[in-house]
Amino acid sequence: MRSLYWFRSDLRLADNFALAEAMRTSDFLIAVFILTPATWKTHAAAPCKIQFLLENLKTLSESLWNQGIPLLIRKGPFFADCPKVLEKLCHQYDIDNLHFNHEYPLDERERDEAVTRRLASSVLVSTYHQQLVLSPGEVLSKQNTPFQIFTPFKNAWLVKVHEQQAWHTYKAVKKKFKSNINPDPIPSRLKGFTGQKIDLCWQAGEKAAQKNLKVFCRDKIDNYQKHRDYPNIDGTSQLSPYLVQGVISPRQCITAALDVCDLLDIFSIKKNEGVATWISEIIWREFYHHITHFHPDVCRYKPFKLKTDNIPWRHDSNALEAWKNGMTGFPIVDAGMRQLLKTGWMHNRLRMITAMFLSKVLLLDWRLGEKHFMEHLIDGDFAANNGGWQWCASTGTDAVPYFRIFNPTIQSQRFDPSGDFIRRFCPELFHLNNKVIHNPFAFGVKPGDLDYVLPIVDYKAMRQRTINLFKRL
Ligand SMILES: Cc1cc2nc3c(=O)[nH]c(=O)nc-3n(C[C@H](O)[C@H](O)[C@H](O)COP(=O)(O)OP(=O)(O)OC[C@H]3O[C@@H](n4cnc5c(N)ncnc54)[C@H](O)[C@@H]3O)c2cc1C
Repeated sequence: MRSLYWFRSDLRLADNFALAEAMRTSDFLIAVFILTPATWKTHAAAPCKIQFLLENLKTLSESLWNQGIPLLIRKGPFFADCPKVLEKLCHQYDIDNLHFNHEYPLDERERDEAVTRRLASSVLVSTYHQQLVLSPGEVLSKQNTPFQIFTPFKNAWLVKVHEQQAWHTYKAVKKKFKSNINPDPIPSRLKGFTGQKIDLCWQAGEKAAQKNLKVFCRDKIDNYQKHRDYPNIDGTSQLSPYLVQGVISPRQCITAALDVCDLLDIFSIKKNEGVATWISEIIWREFYHHITHFHPDVCRYKPFKLKTDNIPWRHDSNALEAWKNGMTGFPIVDAGMRQLLKTGWMHNRLRMITAMFLSKVLLLDWRLGEKHFMEHLIDGDFAANNGGWQWCASTGTDAVPYFRIFNPTIQSQRFDPSGDFIRRFCPELFHLNNKVIHNPFAFGVKPGDLDYVLPIVDYKAMRQRTINLFKRL
């Protein structure tokens, strides 16, 4: 069989059943990655995410070439160009079988359906589910419907994973192909994605991802439950950039968590709170991908709870700019937003604080924040980002109740008690003590004495305004 493997968000050799199948069934195998910058722009992909993608492609190409598989690079530039690009390749190399893994957001699904329609009469199109431990449709309620609430989803997910022992990973196939086709060079930059100047903190490639996973499981997972909410503690895995591009798989994460803690069974995670909580986060990832699959309207700028579209969001470009630039006068919000701009990543607790601040304190449309996050996050992922935003804005499924609105000062006192995280990203507050730093002007600092913006809104008044608006829905 002569096969073509199409890489997308599965940039790895290990635990890649689709690639293993392509290798096993073929005597001729080439791989392709299609650059689609025009569509990535419409998806608001961050320059740092694209930069990381190119670096991951480089290491992927080297690993594939070690096994005689050339990675070819083609340019769309739109998703809509993929069918003709693949058709041309199939024709050029006399391909019998095209392999790829599913992706669940709407545009990706429509792209794949168009590819299958275009090629199915001439080529065998083999597709697989590898982005999640359990794919959409595998976890359903007793009534055979998709879950909309996380806890029953999680319980059913655990049962199913236990039954299938679904955390076991697939070994990479050790097979060497003979190829007279050379891999294409990987561009080091992509036009349109060069603006954001940050030093990437993530080393590209499977090896680096596996090392980070190992270190996290060895040194941090036991205390994950205790540390994960404190942005100044390096207590989470920071594996999200790898998971988003499929450099590492969620199954590999679960296997490693179970292995390191010497747990043989997914149900025994209850014995270790750190492991149990971390695996729960991986299940949130699965949950949001399932939501995206079964409720494609969320990909069409719609809130999950449609009636929340009647909220009269404010139009205030000054407030939006202040939020984006970390200049709201609320130190913990500003520190979080500046972490995003500076590093391309933001701690989960801060994503919640800043997202809730935009949507329910500034009362600005959550979709503006969702887009800004995507434009800057190295781990920007439609399902998780949309799910996270709709959770915070109380427009989503199983979202936080509308009347729960984080008070930034209290959040700051609880989760950055020493103020050191704020000091790291807001140097103008560096000299303030750990009482005053959480809300300087409320705690006695005179405006003229500090080079920092006054709070741009009155938290209490805005909170009440939001609650009244939601009540009226
Ligand atoms: C408003 C908002 C926007 C978000 N946008 C994204 C995004 O674009 N991409 C993204 O990967 N995550 C997003 N998240 C989820 C979460 O903040 C990040 O996954 C997490 O901070 C990544 O850090 P980590 O790898 O150290 O996570 P860990 O705490 O180590 O968790 C392990 C993995 O579980 C998954 N995960 C953890 N929390 C969540 C969650 N709440 N929802 C879905 N998956 C989760 C991630 O893949 C993460 O890498 C968002 C959350 C919020 C509130």
